[in-house]
Amino acid sequence: MIDIQTFMLALGAGNIAFALLMAGYMRSAPPDRSLNAWMWARLATGVAQTSAWLAPYFGRAALVDFASFAWIAGTALEMAAYCMFFGFRRWRLVLYPAAAVALLAVAGAIAAGATRQQMAWVVAVLVALFASASAMILLRPQKDAPPVQRIIGTVDAMFALAIWIWMAVANGRMGNFNASPILGFAYLSSYLLMIVNGFGFLLLCKMRDDAGMRRLATIDGLTDTLNRRAFFERADGARLLALRMRKPIALAMLDLDHFKQLNDGFGHACGDEALRVFAATARGLLREHDLMGRLGGEEFALALPGVGLDGALKAAERLRLAVTEAALPSCAAGYRMTVSIGVVVIEPNEELTAALARADHALYAAKTGGRNRVEVGPALLKRA
Ligand code: GH3
Ligand code: MG
Ligand code: MG
Repeated sequence: MIDIQTFMLALGAGNIAFALLMAGYMRSAPPDRSLNAWMWARLATGVAQTSAWLAPYFGRAALVDFASFAWIAGTALEMAAYCMFFGFRRWRLVLYPAAAVALLAVAGAIAAGATRQQMAWVVAVLVALFASASAMILLRPQKDAPPVQRIIGTVDAMFALAIWIWMAVANGRMGNFNASPILGFAYLSSYLLMIVNGFGFLLLCKMRDDAGMRRLATIDGLTDTLNRRAFFERADGARLLALRMRKPIALAMLDLDHFKQLNDGFGHACGDEALRVFAATARGLLREHDLMGRLGGEEFALALPGVGLDGALKAAERLRLAVTEAALPSCAAGYRMTVSIGVVVIEPNEELTAALARADHALYAAKTGGRNRVEVGPALLKRA
């Protein structure tokens, strides 16, 4: 049978353990303000619960009062961590006054000489209000929200609901875990809140960091296209899929013309801008499943799944024209880029690198043929 004392100790120890775990994690993780706020939230809540547990042993007043303030601070910090995590802008304008009002309410209750039971009500209502707000943040309509986020939000909502029911039906009376199902539900929700949210927030941060690392490893930072390695990997996957589906897949190699002159004439930063504008122009014309990678310098490659030679030539021509119309107003107003393109369709069972070599051959032909043009690659050389 779990009584309120045992329960407070379990929650307090659990939250402090989470705070320690996070402090340890943060020593080796990149600096993160939301994780930092979360760590302090767990610590404040854990210290509050431990103080509430200690209160009966040391005479009540000071420890209960301290616990009440610390609990509110912990809950407000938890919300601050969510706001920072989701990158909300003006959250301070709402949260700071809300936290100040909550702390004043606690101070008011103390000044009015509230009993331990009454203090518990005040804190429970305020904590439930913050938990409801956190639940709304986590469960708000949002495309592609990870399930972990939804699970944390659901537990927050369940906890808030348990507190409201406990206040409304059981009048906020404390007692043993199985004194009533309502109290049992409130205990269980608090326990789940500690476990699920403690681990959950850490997981959310980890998932975000992992996605950032994956992005760093696969995306070219300047142009936001796939980097060389990622392009080869994805294009080869697309080649194999097309082969299995008996669909064509086209490849194109692209190289900006006289790029060195642009760099020399307008500066390296302007060359960078041109690369960004070129990539954005191409992205605007490509379909969802088309792949674009920066193979190096001012050289790019495209893989167009499901596209045969006619379609690839049309796409390449469309891109070539769009590039001649793309301006660089910030650094070389009036300058017009051009691009040379070599196109092939991958033959069944042809390796990606072999097909790219043929596309490169076509690109070379486009360069020697006067640049700003599209050429088709030579047929696959039959092995003897
Ligand atoms: P061509 O028409 O034959 O392709 O001539 P080109 O001048 O475009 O080709 P070349 O290979 O001689 O020059 C490519 C230049 O691209 C040289 C290099 O300094 C520049 N470059 C490579 N990477 C970057 C980059 O990330 N930013 C900028 N600004 N320039 C780059
Ligand atoms: Mg070039
Ligand atoms: Mg080049």
